[in-house]
Amino acid sequence: MVRELSHFVDGELRAGTSGEFSDVFNPSTGEIAARVPLASHSEVAAAISTAEEAQHEWGALNPQRRARVLMRFLRLIERDIDELAEMLSREHGKTLADSKGDVQRGVEVIEFALGAPHLLKGEYSTNAGSDGIDVYSMRQPLGVVAGITPFNFPAMIPLWKMGPALAAGNAFILKPSERDPSVPLHLAQLLTEAGLPDGVLQVLNGDKRAVDAILTDKRVQAVGFVGSTPIARYIYETAAANGKRAQCFGGAKNHMIVMPDADLDQAADALVGAGYGSAGERCMAISVAVPVGKATADALAAKLTERVKQLRVGDTHDERADYGPLITRDAVDRVTHYIEAGVEEGASLLVDGRGLTVEGFEEGFYLGPSLFDYVTTDMSVYRDEVFGPVLFIARAATYEEALRLPSEHDYGNGVSIFTRDGDTARDFAARVNVGMVGVNVPIPVPIAYHTFGGWKESGFGDLNQHGPDSFRFYTKTKTVTSRWPSGIKEGASFVIPTMQ
Ligand code: NAD
Repeated sequence: MVRELSHFVDGELRAGTSGEFSDVFNPSTGEIAARVPLASHSEVAAAISTAEEAQHEWGALNPQRRARVLMRFLRLIERDIDELAEMLSREHGKTLADSKGDVQRGVEVIEFALGAPHLLKGEYSTNAGSDGIDVYSMRQPLGVVAGITPFNFPAMIPLWKMGPALAAGNAFILKPSERDPSVPLHLAQLLTEAGLPDGVLQVLNGDKRAVDAILTDKRVQAVGFVGSTPIARYIYETAAANGKRAQCFGGAKNHMIVMPDADLDQAADALVGAGYGSAGERCMAISVAVPVGKATADALAAKLTERVKQLRVGDTHDERADYGPLITRDAVDRVTHYIEAGVEEGASLLVDGRGLTVEGFEEGFYLGPSLFDYVTTDMSVYRDEVFGPVLFIARAATYEEALRLPSEHDYGNGVSIFTRDGDTARDFAARVNVGMVGVNVPIPVPIAYHTFGGWKESGFGDLNQHGPDSFRFYTKTKTVTSRWPSGIKEGASFVIPTMQ
């Protein structure tokens, strides 16, 4: 019997009633691990009603008390970390150590959200305009808000969304990825155990139908989305057409520039970790290495080839594995198709990862690491997000040419430069047309108290994830102009007040 998952509504796990399900796989073995219910329109609407009711009291609660719930939540995550990592690896396929990292990067945003009392403070001007007038602003929750999240970080991204939204006093509807829903369900149970009132967090599993029910419901005020670019664009447009605030983060094609003065061993190690970690299924994975000059390119290609050939692929419990399986058989086929396309388009395949099987796990969704050289901007493997364990070397003759590659690419999530020259690094950081920049750092994911967000096709809408922006996104500003006059008896003024 395959395990049947549920939704989490009004403080408890609740079976789906639509009669429709989606299979959840264990990518390490290729077996079906569970089946998840797909919420119907009416199930979503009912959950929104419950959330709307629960939000009034939660939103009115002192923010320090709300933060205390999150504080207890952190302790419970710490208590259950092994169970969470095991659950995450079983449905996603990443190694156990990497799953703990997934949870930890989410935890850091909850830690940041503990500062809600401070983050919700407004501005105050005394004697504004004329004597006796004070102007102050306050940040208030929006009401019911939502998050729609991808498969590749089933702990981190739901936590990035729900932490600030809940701390700000909203009720939150989470629609996690239907591929790995167990961790978000467990997190919801922990929040209830930590004291979150019933109905304030609702987890609805589902597909496009559930998403559309959220997008078209007038009671949902804001939608935070993370996933692929075509869906990000769709969510942005549909949410906006329905009068909602939207922040939608999409796909990526992250470049790493390697200057001739860089330490090439350091750069090669960084590229291998950032390119193949989590099977390349990270939005901040490095996909394109850009060595500058022929000598740098030849040396880097040799170092990468040597390292990539030694990578170990294994199941999630293999402690020596560098990475595990991909999320689905379809994902393996899609990436394999891109490797074929790269060969056909004329790139040079230095390491071919196709056809790998892992002993004892022959039905798992594995793909060995591949490495291409001489990739050019007209190739589909350069333009498209491949999202798998493949690294592409696109050689540049000069620094200016290297700078142009990520700047002119449709995606603009992350980029990095490896150099020993501070002047080059500063120039690069200032001029590159990409949202997040690393200097001698391969995966420039900003820390929780800064903000995370890509540009161009990697991000639609305003305001980034986590950091102060996350509180701005999930709150609205009210500005109060007040006067406690002594001279009201003087009568009304009919001339517009000015600063003259
Ligand atoms: P996806 O776009 O397929 O799914 C994301 C979410 O959208 C899921 O909850 C899914 O159920 C829902 N969805 C899927 N199709 C839909 C449709 N037609 N209508 C409405 N909703 C739909 O993405 P994924 O495969 O789960 O995740 C991988 C993608 O996410 C990659 O492109 C990756 O780069 C991107 N990603 C981006 C960031 C970032 O911050 N920019 C972070 C992580 C992942």
